[in-house]
Amino acid sequence: MKSKVYIETFGCQMNVADTERAATGLRKAGYELTATADSADVVLLNTCSVRERAERKVFRRIGEVRNRARKAGQEKPLIGVMGCVAQLEGSSIFANAPAVDLIIGTRATDRIQSLIERARGGEASVIDLDERQEGELWDVSPAERRSPYVAFVPIIEGCNKFCSFCIVPYSRGREKSRSAVEIVAEVERLRALGYKEVHLIGQNVNSYRPKSTEGLDRYAGATPFARLLRAVADTGMERIKFTTSFPRDFHPDIVSALEEHPNLCDWIHLPVQSGSDRMLKAMRRGHTADDYLRRVDAIRNSKRRLSLTSDVIVGFPGESEEDFEQTMRLVRSCEYDGLYIFKYSKRAGTPAAALANVIPESEKTARFMALESLQDSMQEKVYGNYVGRTVSVLVEKESARSKEDMTGHSTCHKVVNFGARQTQPGEIVEVLISQAKPYSLYGELVN
Ligand code: SAM
Repeated sequence: MKSKVYIETFGCQMNVADTERAATGLRKAGYELTATADSADVVLLNTCSVRERAERKVFRRIGEVRNRARKAGQEKPLIGVMGCVAQLEGSSIFANAPAVDLIIGTRATDRIQSLIERARGGEASVIDLDERQEGELWDVSPAERRSPYVAFVPIIEGCNKFCSFCIVPYSRGREKSRSAVEIVAEVERLRALGYKEVHLIGQNVNSYRPKSTEGLDRYAGATPFARLLRAVADTGMERIKFTTSFPRDFHPDIVSALEEHPNLCDWIHLPVQSGSDRMLKAMRRGHTADDYLRRVDAIRNSKRRLSLTSDVIVGFPGESEEDFEQTMRLVRSCEYDGLYIFKYSKRAGTPAAALANVIPESEKTARFMALESLQDSMQEKVYGNYVGRTVSVLVEKESARSKEDMTGHSTCHKVVNFGARQTQPGEIVEVLISQAKPYSLYGELVN
């Protein structure tokens, strides 16, 4: 009999997409996928290592799964670690967490079935950290997708940027772009299945560089990514979002593509990390604050009102009060629609881990709070500007706050709640915004 498998996902959209791909392969091979760890014979933890806290969570979770089985007097399920922690820490996980039976690297997603079979056959400490193999294709069944309306479509894996703080190039390897033909075919398939929105995802989507231009030949554009945007827009998929964009590779032609195609959504996520050139250099970002602001100008001068979000790291080694002030100034001038703020977290193996002038935790927290408070006040203004405007919303579910309300995301990627129980998840509706809250908008349905 085939085992019951439970996959728990931590971290970014790339991990969500990997889980969907792994689940597709497992179900095809005859495994049953379960919704909780309790009834599973195999528990796979798909892990994130971007910050130390995320990594610690995984080891806690391994202990919980083992102890739960022990308390219930059940045999311990096979425990596997997938994703970035697996790839980075490799076989040392077996020593640190003896309950673990399997280690599955970031490019071994399509080989999980055979790894499970080996562990079930009695082999101890099964590990696969190898590259993807010839013929392994991105294949995700709709049954495994997290939503029946919104689908993640990876277009590029890995990262070549080697920012000094970041573990991703080591955990996910070098950039590898999928062929445009494959991507467009997947979006067409999703559209035929009734999906309303796709997110083209990757660590740096705008660094997209496939081996051949096949599938892009009919589309103009200054970069392969700008051409891909036009090709995907041409499928007629109702809403297309993309994340994350890397500032150095952000060509203004992306803005032109958004102006030409209304189904390319009005949202750009462009992480800046710092407003200080000294810090940007130490972070090895390959751009200055001015380079970044020129990209922002292109976005702000667009004929369309484009929503802009970003990531910032506070407390990078050596960050002075003045460096931090420059970040505050940049955030003030960018008027972001949303900002993800991270306290710098030392990642072993990255160049920044060896840097001196470590910022004390208390100072990181103070800077985090100062920046958060600035962003909250900026965001109040940005969100307030939506009052009286109509936005297009993809209805997702009943609001958690009120049974009278439904919730969804706008094309500009804001959470919108609205009073209209007669709408169904999956519908696209127009909502007139009447109220701006700190992290969401509220409105009424427009007929
Ligand atoms: N590739 C994108 C880029 O660099 O523009 C972002 C990918 S990363 C998975 C998401 C965010 O996590 C980064 O933009 C950064 O702000 C944050 N991050 C990455 N490494 C970090 C670290 N060591 N400490 C704190 N935050 C970190």
